[in-house]
Amino acid sequence: MAGSYVREARLRGLGRRRERIAPIIDRLANEHADAAIALRFRSDLELLVSVMLSAQTTDVNVNRVTPALFEKYPSPQDYLAVPAEELERDIYPTGFFRQKTKAIRGTMRALIEEFDGQVPRRLDDLVTLPGVARKTANVVASELGHAQGIVVDTHVRRLSQRLGLSRNEDPVKIERDLQRVVPRADWARFPHLLIWHGRRVCDARRPRCEDCVLEELCPASRLR
Ligand code: SF4
Repeated sequence: MAGSYVREARLRGLGRRRERIAPIIDRLANEHADAAIALRFRSDLELLVSVMLSAQTTDVNVNRVTPALFEKYPSPQDYLAVPAEELERDIYPTGFFRQKTKAIRGTMRALIEEFDGQVPRRLDDLVTLPGVARKTANVVASELGHAQGIVVDTHVRRLSQRLGLSRNEDPVKIERDLQRVVPRADWARFPHLLIWHGRRVCDARRPRCEDCVLEELCPASRLR
């Protein structure tokens, strides 16, 4: 299906990906001027922990837990100073609490032992942290102002396909396709724009094409 939208864009004479990307970004930026990460954090460490906790749950859910969590665990050492069961209880509402506790404690140990207790900026370093996959690393690096890739979540994947920007299903391949057309200066904000557009307008099951600022640029539009 994803491939068909790339073909459809050509059939409808919508222009090449490289030509459509600038107006797509401009229109989305105009429409979703408030698009930004929804997680709340005050430091690099809080950002990293928030993103790790956000796997398989909502940002709202994470934001409910983190104020007390960050008060109790201000440094990497603090996460290791309590028994694992205590941290499990503290993050329980975010789900997968055993797995996340293991990942967070492993990551804190690695930060202390290999990065002087600091959150690294390089994607290659971030992905060496236990439980930190490419998507998490991309989110952290981007929010720290060092985007080295493009975050691909479920919304980014769906919209990239519908907009005919990628014919792939695999997130790593979609990211590679996006990196070829999205200007590097926009790598950090582009996923936020797609995520917010996906939540507000381009719903997975019921896209509201009639209210969409991208309608005339979109090969998946249901209006034509
Ligand atoms: S025109 Fe429809 S399918 Fe295309 S991006 Fe907009 S809402 Fe989604």
